[in-house]
Amino acid sequence: MELLKKKIIEDGRILEGNILKVDNFLNHQLDIGLLNEIGKEFKKIFSHKKITKILTAEVSGIAIAAIAAQYFDVPVVFAKKTESKNLDQETYEGSVYSYTKGKYYKIRVSKRYISKEDHILIIDDFLANGQAILGLKEVVDASGANLVAAGVVIEKGFQEGGKILREANLEVHALATIDAMVNGKVVFRNHEQY
Ligand code: 5GP
Repeated sequence: MELLKKKIIEDGRILEGNILKVDNFLNHQLDIGLLNEIGKEFKKIFSHKKITKILTAEVSGIAIAAIAAQYFDVPVVFAKKTESKNLDQETYEGSVYSYTKGKYYKIRVSKRYISKEDHILIIDDFLANGQAILGLKEVVDASGANLVAAGVVIEKGFQEGGKILREANLEVHALATIDAMVNGKVVFRNHEQY
């Protein structure tokens, strides 16, 4: 998606540890015009699929999923990372390994909001090691719903996640895939260099 790549080049910052900071438009301040275009692009990619719900994880997936959901005309459910009194006791759980924290944490979705009749599209901001999406997949699998596909805004193609998920037979689409980040520059999969 050219508009997204342009934004990554103009506003993305590369931090130590191969982290791409996109706080200016995706992870902190939100560029709603861009999010709208991202939503339309996801709809274009998945238009031939039957989807009844979009699933994401709090916090950074919510804005992306919510704006995309307008084009699918389906509800968004977000998995919660903290246990709280507001969450029903009856939940489907998934575990996510955090490389930065070096431990697993749980994500939960109330059994009220996903059922085996659902056809689920997972949407998230980044795909890196694939752990967040694997945790969401665990939630969907536990519910008996059909996991249709996953859409991510940015895939870090030099990390293992994409391979792991596709080998697990999950259809995954990224709007921009990064092959490398070298000398402060982003190299996209189609070998354009900026
Ligand atoms: P995973 O490794 O499970 O695929 O990615 C987990 C989460 O880490 C993503 O949902 C995203 O929020 C965050 N993440 C991974 N790599 C990056 C990165 O380079 N930049 C930012 N901003 N977040 C990242």
